[in-house]
Amino acid sequence: HPLYKWFTPEIADRSARILKRPAALKIEGLHKSFDHKGTPVKVLNEIDFTAYKREFICVVGPSGCGKSTLARLIAGLETHEQGAIVIDDNTVTGPGPDRGMVFQSYSLFPWLTIKQNVMFGLTQAGMAYNTAEAEAFQWIDLVGLTKFADAYPHQLSGGMKQRVAIIRALANQPKILLMDEPFAALDPQNRLKMQQYLLEIWQNIDITIFFITHDLDEAIYLADRILVLEANPGQVVEALEVPLPRPRKADTLLSPEFLATKAYLEKLV
Ligand code: ADP
Ligand code: MG
Repeated sequence: HPLYKWFTPEIADRSARILKRPAALKIEGLHKSFDHKGTPVKVLNEIDFTAYKREFICVVGPSGCGKSTLARLIAGLETHEQGAIVIDDNTVTGPGPDRGMVFQSYSLFPWLTIKQNVMFGLTQAGMAYNTAEAEAFQWIDLVGLTKFADAYPHQLSGGMKQRVAIIRALANQPKILLMDEPFAALDPQNRLKMQQYLLEIWQNIDITIFFITHDLDEAIYLADRILVLEANPGQVVEALEVPLPRPRKADTLLSPEFLATKAYLEKLV
């Protein structure tokens, strides 16, 4: 493998430990077509992939290769013709509380305060108001937004809104967090801050992350493994173990193994 010299014993050991964990998400022989003027057009072709518990997966690939469609299928927001998506031994047939989703556009409820946004899913799921409020405060505190608990989304910066979207998704304790280009609208400085926030949260809770991005730097910085898709039809060309130690710091982005990984991926996408 062109990156072999970066697969140090430490990296190989990390990969081996991840592969011994139970599967969190299994995608088996998945096919998806959309109808285009009466003709079915194949968007995803024979996708096979397994993510293990607490693994951080990034998905990259050219625009239109089906990344968002794949996330929506996992979320249960679309149906597929063939194959299966299995989460913790349950086959996905629709949306469910085992999956949380974060979009680029935040999708917060503008008429609710930050606290109410975070509480929403909890009270919907039947949690008592006071308990939900206490939980919401803990999450809000975790991302440093206590002062903004009673503010409305429009009063927050993009990065702050995305922090709220993330904790709102996590508050329901999903097994998998699906993120579709969540930081694409942020400026580089805020983006790096959000990436570091996300890594911190991920290190502290039991969650598997499926993170879509078109930014290779972001994928390499965050992921244990990077799933590379090609377009027309969308299919897997590589599932690359990222040969970078953790924890990742800002200077990770300048390391020789980082640059080697990026050069390798640039040839694939
Ligand atoms: P990506 O997120 O990788 O850019 P998408 O999953 O958004 O790709 O789209 C993959 C392909 O599927 C594109 O060609 C897009 O036009 C098509 N597509 C996505 N959603 C629909 C839909 N609801 N109806 C018809 N075609 C769609
Ligand atoms: Mg997309």
